[in-house]
Amino acid sequence: MIGRIHSIDSFSTVDGPGIRTVVFVQGCSLRCIYCQNPDTWAGCNDKTNKMSVFQVMQIIKRGIPYYGDRGGVTFSGGEPLLQADFIREVFSECKRLGIHTAIDSSLYVESSHLEKLIPYTDLVLADIKAIDPQNSIKITGAANNLNLANLDLLNRQGISIWIRYVVCLDGLIIQQISVPYPTI
Ligand code: SF4
Repeated sequence: MIGRIHSIDSFSTVDGPGIRTVVFVQGCSLRCIYCQNPDTWAGCNDKTNKMSVFQVMQIIKRGIPYYGDRGGVTFSGGEPLLQADFIREVFSECKRLGIHTAIDSSLYVESSHLEKLIPYTDLVLADIKAIDPQNSIKITGAANNLNLANLDLLNRQGISIWIRYVVCLDGLIIQQISVPYPTI
C-alpha cells in the first residue's frame, strides 16, 4: 500500500509525549484560517512523496533508540484519517515493535475512517477548532458535527485524548495549547 506523504520530521518534542517521529500526510478537507501547513491541503501535488509502508517504517525504526517509554510516532498533516488504511498498516507494524502511536487530527471525517485505527492507536491529539458550529464554519469552512461525534466515539472507546486548541484574542493567535481530555 502507498501513502501520500508531505514530509517526515525526526526528534519532534511538540507532537505528543516524549521524542517522536512525525509523519505529515498530504491532503485535508478543511481550510482553517490559521493553518500552519497549507501546502498539505491538496490531495497530491508534484512535491508529494508516494511512500510504501516499508519505506515509512524504515524511517520510524531509526528513532527506536530515542523513543523510550513515552515517545513514538505521530501521524499529522494534512488530515491523517483520510489515509486510514495506510496508517493502519504502519501502526499495526509499530504495535508489533512496541512503538507508541498517535494521530494528530481535526476528526473531520466519517467515523468509519477513525474506527479502522482505534485498535492500533494509543493517543489522539484532537484539533478541535471550535465548539460553536457557526464559529467552526468561520474558522475551518465547515460545521463541527463530525468532529464532535468522533471525539465522543474516542472517549467511549477509552482512547487517550489531548485536546489541541488555538487560543485567540481579538483575532490574534496567542498560542496552541494541548490539554489531556478526561476519559470516562
Ligand atoms: S485541519 Fe489542520 S491541516 Fe487541515 S486546514 Fe485545518 S489546520 Fe490545516
